[in-house]
Amino acid sequence: MTPISFEFYPPKTDEQRAQLDRTALKLKAYAPEYVSCTFGAGGSTLSYTPETVRRLYEEHGFDAAPHLSCVGGTREEIRELLARYRDLGCRRIVALRGDLPSGMGHPGDLRYASDLVAFIRGEFGDTFRIEVACYPEIHPQADDALADLRHFKAKVDAGADAAITQYFYSAEAYFHFVDAARKAGIEVPIVPGIMPVSNFSQLRRFSETCGAEIPRWMRKRMQAYGDDAEAVREFGADIVATLCRRLLEGGAPGLHIYTLNLAKPTQTLLSRLAAPGSPFRRSEEWAVATGGV
Ligand code: FAD
Repeated sequence: MTPISFEFYPPKTDEQRAQLDRTALKLKAYAPEYVSCTFGAGGSTLSYTPETVRRLYEEHGFDAAPHLSCVGGTREEIRELLARYRDLGCRRIVALRGDLPSGMGHPGDLRYASDLVAFIRGEFGDTFRIEVACYPEIHPQADDALADLRHFKAKVDAGADAAITQYFYSAEAYFHFVDAARKAGIEVPIVPGIMPVSNFSQLRRFSETCGAEIPRWMRKRMQAYGDDAEAVREFGADIVATLCRRLLEGGAPGLHIYTLNLAKPTQTLLSRLAAPGSPFRRSEEWAVATGGV
């Protein structure tokens, strides 16, 4: 069975919380291996991530994995947070450096994600399965592609069990990256991060900051749809479902879907993937679980 996982962000208002609850209920039918919850670097959502993880774990019954970024934090703060997650029952952490909001002062005690992975292993042994981030299209601050790959390897050597990629729309970028990683001696699963397309201007904004490339032809098509949100969604769903099929046929070990706390784009994607003949080996269960959504 192809493992899938869903990523949520921590809601801050009652309305956002209600939306996440509705989304979580709908996406539960897809039996994700786990769900993860992002973390605002520099402490901006420090108080929201643990509470969201608790809700996802205790009230929705998911295996919930908090993201934890080290930038801006002290060793003591990170240790406390990890102990809180351990006591809650979490057994998986997504370990990141994060990005310090501009103008924020202290960079924190741990500089890179590899330092955080080493810290978690040193302080908590094998309590947590550790996922790290990686970048088929190269991290925007990396000196070059080879340096970025070395830094990815440092996270694995420090004890990471698996990696989730930044999102991308070029299957070739993923396959090439996985090949390069294997040649560099990185053996952990590299799970593609998948961003469904539902809002073009939002996607363009995200992509500019995180260095993910929207291919020109895709951008041009979406620009041409203008305000026709339905056309953008349909086109996006086709592109992303085709991408996922190619990734799975090419050996990707699973899919990690950035839900943005919305159920519909993920449901649309997964229902297209569950079509007959798809390499996505979940179709039959889903047809039953989701009533053929
Ligand atoms: P690192 O692995 O530390 O790498 C950061 C940069 O430093 C890279 O350019 C790398 O090449 C370089 N580098 C690493 N080690 C060294 C070294 N020893 N010497 C010199 N350079 C080095 N951000 C959040 O704030 N919250 C989240 O919840 C969150 N979730 C994410 C989930 C996923 C799956 C992904 C892909 C990203 C996520 N991010 C999140 C974004 C992430 O924090 C940023 O991309 C950040 O800029 C880098 O984090 P990292 O863990 O990859 O850092």
